[in-house]
Formats: sequence, C-alpha cells, structure tokens
Amino acid sequence: MERYKVAVRAAILWLHPNISQQELEIELAWTMREIRINRNGNLIWRLFPLGVKLFESLGEAQNWRCCYCHCPTTEFGRKRATIEHYVRLVDGGLDHPENMLMACYGCNRELGFLLEWGSLKVR
Ligand SMILES: [Zn+2]
Repeated sequence: MERYKVAVRAAILWLHPNISQQELEIELAWTMREIRINRNGNLIWRLFPLGVKLFESLGEAQNWRCCYCHCPTTEFGRKRATIEHYVRLVDGGLDHPENMLMACYGCNRELGFLLEWGSLKVR
C-alpha cells in the first residue's frame, strides 16, 4: 500500500500544485480511504473536485467514450470512468495529461483516478 501512497501523493501534488502540507496530508488520508481495486486487479482512487477539470478535457477530447471498449462513459448513472495512462507508469510513462486517456472502470489497466459521474457536472 505504501507504493500506492507515493503515487497518490504525486497525483495530488500535480493536481493541486499550491496545496499546503497540511491540506496535502488531509487529502492523502481521505484518498487512501477511498481507493479500490477494479476487475483487472488495478488500484483506482477517487478524483478530487479540482481534478474534474482534467477529466472534462479528456472527456471532450474522446467524445466521452472509453479509449478501449468505446462504451459511453456518461450514459449510465452507475458507469464510472477513470484516467488511464497511455504509456503505463510501470513502463516508465509520465503522470502528465499528455500521457492520459479516459477509460471505463472495467477497462483501466493500472492504478488511476476514479470519478463517479454523479459528482461531475456533465451536460
Ligand atoms: Zn472500457
């Protein structure tokens, strides 16, 4: 779980570059409570409000469809979408928007962000 914590901490810092140390610890503690494993055995965690902006830009770019199975990621109330790395982190991929795609919860291959659509303002 410690290695996940390192990745989650890096993601929070990337999403909130000006976050204070105290806020970071709170966000990290909250996030670690929310992580879960998808059907591929990969770690997924909940996205924070500021990260929604990133999600919206990825969604727009992909017409709100999963990059693998092309299922719509917005049509079903219970459907979840995640952020996927084009080059996996384990293969040296960067944790940067240029290396990110939107995938459905079931298809995501590795640890990533989880967003429940109920919390995202979609048209
Ligand atoms: Zn999919």
